Amino acid sequence: MSTLDKLAELFARFPGIGPRQSKRFVYYLLAAPIGVREELSRLVLALKKMVNVCSECQRFFTSNGNQQTLCSTCADPNRDNTLLMIVEKDVDLENIERAGAWSGKYFVLGGTIPILEKNPHERVRSKQIQKLIENRGKNNGLKEVVLALSLTSEGENTAEFLQSSLAPLSTAYGFKLSTLGRGLSTGSELEYSDPDTIRNALKNRQ
Ligand SMILES: [Zn+2]
Repeated sequence: MSTLDKLAELFARFPGIGPRQSKRFVYYLLAAPIGVREELSRLVLALKKMVNVCSECQRFFTSNGNQQTLCSTCADPNRDNTLLMIVEKDVDLENIERAGAWSGKYFVLGGTIPILEKNPHERVRSKQIQKLIENRGKNNGLKEVVLALSLTSEGENTAEFLQSSLAPLSTAYGFKLSTLGRGLSTGSELEYSDPDTIRNALKNRQ
C-alpha cells in the first residue's frame, strides 16, 4: 500500500470521517507547507507524553509532561464537591463548561451503552463511577448526581442503566439522582447543543 493510501486509511478511522474526506486530508497535507506536516507529526508524537487522564473525572488534560494526576476542574477548590455530573465524553464536558452553568464536578463515562448490550459494564467506566460516588458519598456529603446524557436511544439506554446501578448508592448516601430536563429535544447530542439549551436543561433537571 502506498504512503498516500496508508495515511488515508488512518484518517478514515477517525470519528465521523469517511474515505473521501480522509483522502482530502492527505491531499491537503501534500499541498501544505512543510512546517504544517512537521508540527502535526511533532504534536501527534507528543500527545501521549503531554496529556494525562484525570484520576477523578477521567478526562484527558494537558499536563505538559509533568506528573499531575488531577485536571484543572477537579483540582479547583472552588468547585462544589457535593454535586457530580456524569457525561458521555470529553467534548460534552467542554461544551457544558462553556455554557458556564455548572459549579459542581464531572465524571466522563467514556462511551454509551447500545440497546440490548449484554455486557453494559464493559462499555462504560462503571466501576470507576461507582467507586467515585461511594467515596464522595462517604467523604464529601454528596447531594446530587446529574445524568447528562444525550437524548438519543443509546444515551437514554445509558441513563437507564446508570439509574438502576446507582440507585442503591443513592439510597445509601442520600443523594438525589437527576436527569437533564426538557429543552434538549429528542435526538439531540450534548456535543452539539448550544449554551442556552444546556443552561435550560440544567435548570429544569428532574
Ligand atoms: Zn478531572
